Amino acid sequence: MNNKIWLSSPHMGGTEEQYVKEAFDTNWIAPLGPNVDGFEKDLENYLGNDVHVAALSSGTAALHLALIILGVKAGDEVICQSMTFSASANPIAYQGATPVFVDSEALTWNMSPEYLEEAIKDRISKGKKPKAIILVHLYGMPAEMERIMAIADNYEIPVVEDAAEALGSSYKGRKLGTFGAMSILSFNGNKIITTSGGGALVSTNEEWIKKARFLATQARDNAPHYQHSHIGYNYRMSNICAGIGRGQMEVLQERVDARRANYTFYKSELDANIFTFADEPGADYYSNRWLTTALINDAKGEINRELIRLELEKDNIETRPLWKPMHMQPVFADAPFYGDGTSEKFFELGLCLPSGSNLTAEEKARVTQRINEVCVANIE
Ligand SMILES: *Cc1c(COP(=O)(O)O)cnc(C)c1O
Repeated sequence: MNNKIWLSSPHMGGTEEQYVKEAFDTNWIAPLGPNVDGFEKDLENYLGNDVHVAALSSGTAALHLALIILGVKAGDEVICQSMTFSASANPIAYQGATPVFVDSEALTWNMSPEYLEEAIKDRISKGKKPKAIILVHLYGMPAEMERIMAIADNYEIPVVEDAAEALGSSYKGRKLGTFGAMSILSFNGNKIITTSGGGALVSTNEEWIKKARFLATQARDNAPHYQHSHIGYNYRMSNICAGIGRGQMEVLQERVDARRANYTFYKSELDANIFTFADEPGADYYSNRWLTTALINDAKGEINRELIRLELEKDNIETRPLWKPMHMQPVFADAPFYGDGTSEKFFELGLCLPSGSNLTAEEKARVTQRINEVCVANIE
């Protein structure tokens, strides 16, 4: 059997162990310490735009705290991009609120500005103004930021920017993760950089970030005994994990470059009659290309994404269908949805290709050779 080729696996830069060793040497083995402070500073410096950052245990925890701080409560409605990973939507349910899902547009595959506005108007006409908009930059591609932010500003609804897949991407030269009233990042094992597991909440509002740190450490009031006037959470990042993050920040741009090179390689090697790639819609858009994705269909319907996925699986190559939209998920079957089926079509046709920054040239060639063989064998 050939070696396993993963969709997206951790890729250490080399200095992570030094930061972790420092944590051991100084006995900062806790969800606080110099690495946590240092990692937050590293992210603040990288993102710029005067943001403040709270390092947390996961991107999901960051989204949950964002909704709590924005005052989302039971019975409220929160708009969310339908085509995303479930973690974008689950925190809405944690709060007892209802997600209202919005379809994708064909340019960036992210939230459609048209359906966003339609959803807002319709929910307001039904008597409930949405409390927040969760916007996602899927696979690292920036959403249509100007149009989305203009609509959100017009209706005065805060945007929570889910940049879990988009650290290193930018829109008009400004880093993703700095546009939302609050933004979130993820450092899960499969993301562009990892802390093994972790996330961050980002905002220019320093009070909100201080509040996030407070809520994330069990909401302890200032007293010698344990005193609480709020419900707290255990959501802070460990000083060990933050040490990994500090090392990873040193190689972030290299990781982006490698993933962008994956995209260019796949696009040049695969048959353009069968594989449609999501090019950046213009110079304003810079994607970290966290995952290279393609829509697969040929004129005669002889090739489809499941055929290719299963053939690659036989050769120990991991691929994955595009994320199944939330409005198609059994768990969200009752949630309102605004759209025209664009994301459903993407799910039906789309495949994520192995995209790690640590893939070798040989491994990538093995992927494209195998795909091209499958295409030749199935097209008469
Ligand atoms: C990974 C991911 C999350 C969740 O981040 P975790 O750190 O795994 O909790 C949220 N949204 C999107 C779009 C993601 O890809």
